[in-house]
Amino acid sequence: MTQESKNSILIIGGGLIGLSIAYEFARNNFKVLVLSKNRSESAGFVAAGMLATHAEGLEDELLTFGQESQNLIPKWIKNIEQDSGIKCGLKQCGIIVPFKNKEELKEFPTYKYGKYLSKKDLQTEINGINSTWEHGLLFEQDGQIDNRRRLMRALERACSLHGVKFQEGSEVQGLNVEKNKITGATVLDATGEIKKINCEKAFLCSGAWSKKIFNKIPVYPVKGQMLSIQGPTNFLKRVIFGPKTYLVPRDDGLIVVGATVEKNSKFNQGNTPNGINQLQEGILSLLPEATKWPQMEHWWGFRPCTPDLKPILGKSKIENLFLATGHYRNGVLFSAITSNLLLKLVQNKRFKETEINFLKKFSLDRFDI
Ligand SMILES: Cc1cc2nc3c(=O)[nH]c(=O)nc-3n(C[C@H](O)[C@H](O)[C@H](O)COP(=O)(O)OP(=O)(O)OC[C@H]3O[C@@H](n4cnc5c(N)ncnc54)[C@H](O)[C@@H]3O)c2cc1C
Repeated sequence: MTQESKNSILIIGGGLIGLSIAYEFARNNFKVLVLSKNRSESAGFVAAGMLATHAEGLEDELLTFGQESQNLIPKWIKNIEQDSGIKCGLKQCGIIVPFKNKEELKEFPTYKYGKYLSKKDLQTEINGINSTWEHGLLFEQDGQIDNRRRLMRALERACSLHGVKFQEGSEVQGLNVEKNKITGATVLDATGEIKKINCEKAFLCSGAWSKKIFNKIPVYPVKGQMLSIQGPTNFLKRVIFGPKTYLVPRDDGLIVVGATVEKNSKFNQGNTPNGINQLQEGILSLLPEATKWPQMEHWWGFRPCTPDLKPILGKSKIENLFLATGHYRNGVLFSAITSNLLLKLVQNKRFKETEINFLKKFSLDRFDI
């Protein structure tokens, strides 16, 4: 198919969700342009990469959304790996949630999906776990992907090889709408020039910044601070998901430690002594031995949060403007299903019952705006 005969779509935001959608559409013969204000601020480069449908205790349609995405991920990642030549570090390593008492354990929303671990089992599973933990749930279905070092780069490369064009350093300042139909965007480009870019369809994928472009969207930033420590290879085989801190072991022994949840952070940059202290205390509370391991890096980022903590997906009231934002704590997990769902929506494909429900429950219309 020639470029001219392709549909042209504009992706606003080259973060995790923008890249996932760009990849899915480019593979399906759409002509895609990604406008990216600043790729390195993307939460896709910040996240811990957990695929934690059950360990996060998701409920109702978010639980089904996570489970369906987790089913799509192996094939989706295989395609990205084949196209990019970059391995993404996908592992169904299991995630352990420890508890102090049985009541907390039984109240955990996804209790029935986990395998019960006694104190002895916990200590066998996690060599050196803090002795204050009495019980655990092992979610063998959950896992992780190395988003920060691998997935984001793999997606960028796979997109480029499928012909996606990128304009890095391009900040969308406004949407151009005529007769309630999107015609393009006004952009401040990397050279400081203001330009108009035309499109047939646009996707708002600007993460925590979405409201700055489309002020009807109730998305706000929730800052998360993270750090990493270098442990011995294979010391920790599964993710430990504590109440305030989690430890995510990569193959080379690097352990990603996260994360603060700062609801009133606005877009305040930087790691803070308080944030780093909280993470260090979290390491002590889970795996005391790990407080002796060298700290490698620390970083921060902004989760795109909505008032009901659910994403905003699908059509908007403006014709041909599609929304894919508000993925909050689970954007890595939800990336596969989000891109799949939006492609089907644009291609007018037949939806399953669950997909119709997702589009209804995650529609912008649920908010009174
Ligand atoms: C600390 C932390 C830990 C996390 N851990 C996990 C995890 O373990 N598992 C999981 O599933 N999820 C996790 N997440 C959530 C996940 O990272 C996000 O949900 C996901 O990255 C959101 O993707 P996005 O593309 O919407 O936003 P982002 O990835 O943030 O990308 C948005 C992009 O839009 C660009 N942009 C903004 N405004 C404009 C504009 N005007 N013009 C052009 N471009 C613009 C930005 O520069 C940015 O690059 C975590 C997030 C954080 C912060």
